[in-house]
Amino acid sequence: MKAQPIASHFIDGEYIEDTDGTVIESLYPATGEVIARLHAATPAIIEKAIAAAKRAQPEWAAISPTARGRILKRAAEIMRERNRELSELETLDTGKPIQETIIADPTSGADSFEFFGGVIAAGMNGSYIPLGGDFAYTKRVPLGVCVGIGAWNYPQQIACWKGAPALAAGNAMVFKPSENTPLGALKIAEILIEAGLPKGLFNVIQGDRNTGPLLVNHPDVAKVSLTGSVPTGRKVAAAAAGSLKHVTMELGGKSPLIVFDDADLDSAIGGAMLGNFYSTGQVCSNGTRVFVSRKVKDQFLSRLKERTEKITIGDPMDEATQLGPMVSFDQRQKVLSYIDKGKAEGATLITGGGIPNHVTGEGYYVQPTVFADVTDDMVIAREEIFGPVMCVLDFDDEAEVIARANATEFGLSAGVFTADLSRGHRVVDQLQAGTLWINTYNLCPVEIPFGGSKQSGFGRENSLAALEHYSELKTVYVGMGKVDAPY
Ligand code: NAD
Repeated sequence: MKAQPIASHFIDGEYIEDTDGTVIESLYPATGEVIARLHAATPAIIEKAIAAAKRAQPEWAAISPTARGRILKRAAEIMRERNRELSELETLDTGKPIQETIIADPTSGADSFEFFGGVIAAGMNGSYIPLGGDFAYTKRVPLGVCVGIGAWNYPQQIACWKGAPALAAGNAMVFKPSENTPLGALKIAEILIEAGLPKGLFNVIQGDRNTGPLLVNHPDVAKVSLTGSVPTGRKVAAAAAGSLKHVTMELGGKSPLIVFDDADLDSAIGGAMLGNFYSTGQVCSNGTRVFVSRKVKDQFLSRLKERTEKITIGDPMDEATQLGPMVSFDQRQKVLSYIDKGKAEGATLITGGGIPNHVTGEGYYVQPTVFADVTDDMVIAREEIFGPVMCVLDFDDEAEVIARANATEFGLSAGVFTADLSRGHRVVDQLQAGTLWINTYNLCPVEIPFGGSKQSGFGRENSLAALEHYSELKTVYVGMGKVDAPY
C-alpha cells in the first residue's frame, strides 16, 4: 500500500520538496508498512511558506466576505464528493476504521468549510456605539498570518477546524500536521486551490517538535493554534508569549462522565463506550473517568463487558471493523504500560488488558479495556492515557461526585447521564470543563463552541466563537464637533 504525495510540502499553490529536511516515514498503523517518505521543513521551506502567506493575505482580506465564503463552500462540496478517497487516506494516515472515517473525518472538515463559508458574511460585523453627538464604531479585522499545529488523531478535521475559520476571517494559514499523520492536510490544501482559493493562503509544511518552534517564534506570525498535549501546550504558549502572539490551545483531558442511578443505562453505556473506544480511544474529550452510581454499578459493568467483548477489531479498511490500531508503536507501548500500571495498582480488570491475540502482524492493536474499582489516586485515573482504556469509579452522592470529578488539573469536557433533567443542569453547572454533555457524549458539531478550561487550554474552535479567535477588534471614535482644548 502506498500513499506517497507528490512532495512533502504545499506552498503558494503547489507541491514543493526540500530533501535536506529530516526524513519522516509515514507508517500504516495496521501493518507497520511504510506508505510514504517525506521530509521535515527546513528553515528555507518555513521562510517560503510564511512569505507566501504574508504576501497573499492582504488581498484576501480585502475581498467581500461573501466571495470568500463562496470559495470555502465550494471546498466543502469537493470534500464531500471525494469523501471515500479522503476517508481511505485518513484511515491509512491514522489506522482509524473506515467505518468511522467515512462518517466523521472529511465530513466534519467539510462541515467546517460550509459553516464558516456561510456565516462569514455576517460573522465579522462590527457595532455602532452612539456617544451623544460623537459616535464610535468597531470593525472586526483579521490577524494576518496564522499558524496551525495539529495532533495525529483527527488530521483532516484539525486542518479544517483551524483553516476554515482562519480563512473565513481573512487570514492566511501555515499548517503543520503531526509527524505521525502527515498526509491528509496536503489534500485539504490541494482541494482549497481547486475550489478557487488564491495561492499562498493555505500552506502545509511537514515537521516535528523541532519544526514547530520555528513557526511559533517567527516574527511574521500573528497567531498560533495548537491541538496537542498539555506539555506541548505549555511550551508553545510560552514561546508565543515571547512575541505576544494570539494563541488557541486545544489540549488534553481526563474528563469525567457521571452516570446516576436513574439514567437510561443502555444509553449511558453506549455513551461511555463511544467516549472511550471511538478512534481507538484517541480523542481528547473522551470521558475516561466514568463515575457510576454504586446502586447500578453491577448492572452497568456486566452489560458494558458484554458489549465491549463484541467489538469487532481488525483491518481498518474492512467496513465491518469497529476498532483499529493505535496510531503508532510508541503510542501502543504507552497505553500498554498504563494498563500494566492499572493492574499493579489493584484496579479490577473487567475486560481487555493487552494485545488482541487474533490480530496478527505488526499492527499497533490494543484490546478495548475496562477497569473497575478505580480510585481517584490511581495513575490510570489521573493521567491522560489516549487509548481505549475506560476507568470506572464508584460514587454514592451528587456533591461527592462533583468534587471528585473536578479534582483534576484538566478541564476539557464532562458528561452526565440522568433522567432528572434539573439534576443534569445543576451538575453540569458545577463541573469545571469547557464542553459538557447531558445524556449524550462527545458530539461536537461545528455549530457549537469546542474547547477546554484549566490545563486543557483556552480559546474555542467551531461556531461563531472561533471567528473571535482569528480576528481582533478595531475601534474608531468619530468626533462630530470642534476639538475643545484647554490650552
Ligand atoms: P503532541 O503535543 O505530542 O504534538 C502535537 C503537535 O505539536 C505535533 O504536530 C507536534 O509536532 C507539535 N509540537 C511538539 N512540540 C512542539 C513545540 N515545542 N513547538 C511547536 N510544536 C510542537 O500531541 P499528540 O501526541 O500529537 O496528540 C495527542 C494529544 O493531543 C493528547 O494530549 C490529546 O488530548 C491532544 N488533543 C487535543 C485536542 C483538543 O481539541 N483539545 C484534540 C486532539 C488531541
